Amino acid sequence: MLIDILSLFPDYFSGIFDISIVGRARRNGLITIRHTDIRTFADNKHNRVDDRPFGGGPGMVMMAEPVIKAVQSVATPQARVVYLSPQGKTLNAPLCKNLAREQHLVLLCGHYEGIDERALEILQVEEISIGDYVLTNGCLPASVLVDAVARFVPGVLGHDEAAQQDSFEGGILDWPHYTHPRSVQGREVPQVLLNGDHQQIAQWRRTAALEKTRKARPDLLKQ
Ligand code: SAM
Repeated sequence: MLIDILSLFPDYFSGIFDISIVGRARRNGLITIRHTDIRTFADNKHNRVDDRPFGGGPGMVMMAEPVIKAVQSVATPQARVVYLSPQGKTLNAPLCKNLAREQHLVLLCGHYEGIDERALEILQVEEISIGDYVLTNGCLPASVLVDAVARFVPGVLGHDEAAQQDSFEGGILDWPHYTHPRSVQGREVPQVLLNGDHQQIAQWRRTAALEKTRKARPDLLKQ
């Protein structure tokens, strides 16, 4: 999978995609991440890519032309162009799986008050939000999307890390996990996990996952 990230701060991503599972996926050639600085597409001598909003009001708006040129410089015919935006549909596990099937993602990060609406229309972007709150720019949302999508790219997770049992698979949360030592400040590991009976363990985990979901996210069970 090729992922192009377009932003005003390519340095923002240094480190974050070098470590852990995404770093390994990049080193194994499963995912390629490229960065484009939208500012390099400014057409004025001060490299400005923002201007005041028509109609007045606070904040600045990213100008349409540099954004359009930046996206067009990387987009291929099969590219899926995503604008990270609090106004988009909310990123969830099914959407991550769907995005993981793409060969080429172009992720557009907004800054300031956002991007001139005409650029979004001309580029026919798909708007995706990471939640109902507003961040200062789209770099963190793009990082969240890359990490969450990468887990569903075939081969990225090792066998032991497989995503099938994770929260939201099958519409419920993951079951509780325990490791050594057996006793922590008087709290014991549930006995059933120690008896080696895989059928009983599977049944206990299923029941515990449902119970956790009922308490923490009853909305998932309704769905
Ligand atoms: N004026 C915009 C609004 O109220 O909808 C918010 C702009 S925000 C300060 C700047 C940029 O951060 C956005 O263009 C977007 O790229 C990114 N951003 C902020 N919150 C986000 C969220 N919840 N999900 C995805 N992107 C977000």
